[in-house]
Amino acid sequence: MSEELRVENLRKVFSVGRPAIDDVSFTVAAGEIVVLLGPSGCGKTTTLRCVAGLEHPTSGTISIGRDIVSAPARGVLMPPRHRNIGMVFQSYAVWPHMTVRQNVAFPLKHRKTPRGEAKAKVDEALEIVGLSEYAERPVVALSGGQMQRVALARSLVYQPRLLLLDEPLSNLDAKLRLRLRDDLRRIIKRTNVTAIYVTHDQAEAVVLGDRIGVMRDGLMLQLASPRDIYNQPADLFVANFTGASNEIDGKVIECSGHEGIVETTSGARLRATFPATIAAGSPATIAFRPEAVRLGASDAINSFTANVVDCRYHGTQTIYDLSVFGGRIEVLELSTEIRFHPGSEVPITLPHTAMWAYAGNATARSQH
Ligand code: ATP
Repeated sequence: MSEELRVENLRKVFSVGRPAIDDVSFTVAAGEIVVLLGPSGCGKTTTLRCVAGLEHPTSGTISIGRDIVSAPARGVLMPPRHRNIGMVFQSYAVWPHMTVRQNVAFPLKHRKTPRGEAKAKVDEALEIVGLSEYAERPVVALSGGQMQRVALARSLVYQPRLLLLDEPLSNLDAKLRLRLRDDLRRIIKRTNVTAIYVTHDQAEAVVLGDRIGVMRDGLMLQLASPRDIYNQPADLFVANFTGASNEIDGKVIECSGHEGIVETTSGARLRATFPATIAAGSPATIAFRPEAVRLGASDAINSFTANVVDCRYHGTQTIYDLSVFGGRIEVLELSTEIRFHPGSEVPITLPHTAMWAYAGNATARSQH
């Protein structure tokens, strides 16, 4: 039984420091997976803990289905155990003295589920996470990835109306992490549970989320599909955080709708995409991905000449440091050959749909 989660104007202020969550609102549709993505300290875990009832919000409303579970202004605060939520944490949090089956059956025992029904539910949960053949093993005889599957099965076995996952893969080694990452989405989707998944890993966010909410300093900067987050980042931070690491400062020459021209401090004029309109004459920063630049290509628009400063060969890809527009940019090319050497000139083209212009520039930002 999956249900919709609604978070409205959520604020959490701890006794010290700025608000950990600052007026955050979002909805997770029944059966949807929303990933909260952002750097350490941005408020992801605090948001999750408020939804779980482990943290008391300062203000705002949290509802699951028809139940308001938290509304401080009205004195509503449903205890965690009444919210019917499943949780999976970074640490495996399994009972070490029990078998796999006993671990997964534990929440049902607690809920006094009849024995026959409990067995069927445990078998189903173990099958979903791919651990049927390990049911009778002591849980400590499993690998980290398998233990996390046990924790997941234990959180799903009582069919919670919401599943919360807080960096569940971060204790696993790289290989296991990739494998379980791919399986996790399948498992969550198969149970059709509404889920919030917290991570600072953008690759995890893209693989797992139906939508991704990018957070910074307690704010939700953008909540959109992975495709929109990657192709239309609404904010410079979102662009940077999802890989658009190159930045060029300039001034807006013209902007009409979502397109316009920015003049760089070196005087070059670049056509760019504007997620939001910026007035002509205002400072702007263009952000773009290292892989968006076309090397050795000239086009009618946005073609320039750059100097190769350095190149690093990584086997299947080569990373170039180029000097252009009076600054440096990094360009990544998928190729098994180095095509341009330091000291040479190279024509470059910057496709304008992958050049995003945002208000302000680095000088202005550093004065904040
Ligand atoms: P991480 O990925 O490191 O877990 P996060 O994005 O989950 O980070 P939170 O743990 O939600 O961030 O923390 C948000 C802010 O709230 C941080 O500035 C943090 O220092 C602060 N904070 C969290 N818990 C407490 C607490 N119990 N008391 C005081 N401040 C806290």
